[in-house]
Amino acid sequence: MLKKSLLSISMIGSILLGAELNIYSARHYDADFEIIKKFEQKTGIKVNHTQARPQELIKRMRLEGDKSPADLFITADISNLTEAKNANLLAPVDSKVLQEVIPSHLRDKDNQWFAITKRARIVVYAKNRGVDPNLVKNYEDLADPKLKGNLLVRSATAAYSKTLLASIIANDGSAEAKKWAQGVLANLASKPKGGDRDQARQVYAGDADFAIMNTYYIGLMKHSKNPKDVEVANSLGIIFPNQDNRGAHINVSGVAMTKSSKNRKEAQAFMEFLLSKEVQEMLTNINFEYPVRSDVKLNETIQSFGQFKEDQLPVSEIAKKVQEAVKIYDEVGFR
Ligand code: FE
Repeated sequence: MLKKSLLSISMIGSILLGAELNIYSARHYDADFEIIKKFEQKTGIKVNHTQARPQELIKRMRLEGDKSPADLFITADISNLTEAKNANLLAPVDSKVLQEVIPSHLRDKDNQWFAITKRARIVVYAKNRGVDPNLVKNYEDLADPKLKGNLLVRSATAAYSKTLLASIIANDGSAEAKKWAQGVLANLASKPKGGDRDQARQVYAGDADFAIMNTYYIGLMKHSKNPKDVEVANSLGIIFPNQDNRGAHINVSGVAMTKSSKNRKEAQAFMEFLLSKEVQEMLTNINFEYPVRSDVKLNETIQSFGQFKEDQLPVSEIAKKVQEAVKIYDEVGFR
């Protein structure tokens, strides 16, 4: 009761003051538009939503400096969040709500960014062609010559690729990680092209039996309006790697307040809104991501992928290895 009346008082205040919030977001998912609409309705705060690729937004914030209108930076991927932090564009946020709801391994150690969703980077295989999933138990198997010419991976410049290698450096050490990158490159069926969904489509087309992709893309394809994508998704089997040891690599989408923010109160309100039970449910039900909150029921589609063990390596530890991952890909000639 008390909470409700407080919210309506702040709502009226916001409307009277003409409060605004400027979001620079690199997330490209339909769920986010619905979430913003809901926030506007609830709070009366007007949201200006600028959407572009993460590197473009980071470049823009750098150029704009203190004059940047951005209050919040939202993006998928630990390496993108790390890049914004290292560019000195983010401000720490001291929020009890965020500290309480987000497990500590999913927050930046300086409180400069916070996970809003999780996704596992998994291996898919051509189940419809009777491929043996036991060929790949661990990420390490992807570098084994037994997979020569039978693996599809997106480009090494893709943020998800950098972050996966960063997690392998953190877990296996630099020397093993370099061997892994070399091995994966040697196993590729073709030169990397397209996004995660394109790797799945190529597996379906028979270009290779295995590919790396994020879990939510499978959910999105299973519910796609394009019947071909539904067929592709249904033809694939899912392998959660490293289940007998550290667990599958978890990447996140995250939110950060910018250093330049002039609407800090509104920005923090939106950050906390993203971690509310209601929004976490939207993120799992519309975008098939895993919620960060532990009290949210998983969407049925991602439940059907099965339970799995997550690598609990703190995001800050992975972040430390991103630069080295870029260097290793470069050294082995993986573009
Ligand atoms: Fe994505």
